[in-house]
Amino acid sequence: MLSVSEALTRILANFQTLNSEVFPSESAVGRVLAETIRASLDLPPFPNSSMDGYAVRAADVRAATTQSPATLAVIGDVPAGLLPTLEVKPGTAARIMTGAHLPDGADAVIPIEATDDQRSSLGGPVPASVQIMKPVDAGAYIRQAGEDVRAGDTVLSPGTLLRPYDLGVLAALGRAEVRVVRRPRVAVLSTGDELVDVNQLPGPGQIRNVNSYTLAALVRKYGGEPVLLGVAPDDLEAVSQKLRSAVGQGVDVILSSAGVSVGAYDVVKSAVERDGELEFWKVNMRPGKPLAYGRVRGVPFFGLPGNPVSAIVGFEIFARPAILKLGGHARLDKPVVQAVLSEPFYSDGRESYLRATVTRQDGVYVARSAGGQGSNIISALTRSNAFVVMAEGVMEAPAGTVLNAWMLDWPEEVF
Ligand code: AMP
Ligand code: MG
Repeated sequence: MLSVSEALTRILANFQTLNSEVFPSESAVGRVLAETIRASLDLPPFPNSSMDGYAVRAADVRAATTQSPATLAVIGDVPAGLLPTLEVKPGTAARIMTGAHLPDGADAVIPIEATDDQRSSLGGPVPASVQIMKPVDAGAYIRQAGEDVRAGDTVLSPGTLLRPYDLGVLAALGRAEVRVVRRPRVAVLSTGDELVDVNQLPGPGQIRNVNSYTLAALVRKYGGEPVLLGVAPDDLEAVSQKLRSAVGQGVDVILSSAGVSVGAYDVVKSAVERDGELEFWKVNMRPGKPLAYGRVRGVPFFGLPGNPVSAIVGFEIFARPAILKLGGHARLDKPVVQAVLSEPFYSDGRESYLRATVTRQDGVYVARSAGGQGSNIISALTRSNAFVVMAEGVMEAPAGTVLNAWMLDWPEEVF
């Protein structure tokens, strides 16, 4: 039987970054940049003051002290947002605000706290003269043009996952729109005669459809756009119709759940083979062994098992990195920490992804079982923040064993 890593390698070989689209920068957090962003101007664009104070010539205040201040004539005011027309000549100073353009002649700024000016910070009028209590070096409290970014510099590269911080630099450079990788469109199909929708009361033998909810949310979590196909009964014709309709809607990936085991009603594999091919079926993993991968009319197809935990584990291991790759993400791995088991974990020799709660205790990650490890136990998943991975061939890991834990949430969120 195919190992998890062989199956993943074969799957990922079929996925390449999608094409790109132009998108409003303000909503581009979480999108992957598809162009090089070069600075079209210097940042800051002009030399400006980093303090409220007085623009001076450093030479005029070289000997200034509290006992013997330098007295300078104040020639005017430089508010932010204007190009100053005045010139600071020897023996003079101009009152200046944070962010205001440095006036000609000045080569330093004296913060207001180092002057005798007690009123300016309260909105008072410009005094006729000001006493400076401290010397400054030329360049002090001046933010030079281009000290942040120089015109022509590359500030963001293709493949960057845009974060709130990155939107700041885009705004500063006047980029209201950016080219980003298109979001993968992922069809989500649930199959099974027993399924009813969330707002229906299940009759005898029926259960509510869980997988459409979890899988669609996971697609979104990893940057895709779910295309909900609803539920198909365990009927070859019905499943075929749903798969064809997904292809007709131009999706990039199709996910289905259930109907891929060996039961009499497991028609999904046959439906795929009608309109395409299966590349493999069954992976040596737990939960989720009966996982099928193939293509329907050329569209990559993941036949996830029906049990809700198996469907989620199969998604996280195989569909998630495929969707991330389509979306242009550089990083496909889940964050992994080394966790010490606080109790024994058991498996049957398949590569196992056991639902666990990882906490940090005295600087060490500690994993305990999140509850029942049956592939139907969805409540254990709501209690878990990690999958503890037991390698192929391992049946038992005693308490104290250190194993890899795939963090479902980032380790920084583990307290
Ligand atoms: P199957 O792979 O069709 O044999 O399904 C395996 C198990 O998963 C059965 O107990 C199904 O009832 C259950 N199952 C299948 N699809 C879903 C679904 N969408 N939501 C919740 N449980 C499901
Ligand atoms: Mg079934």
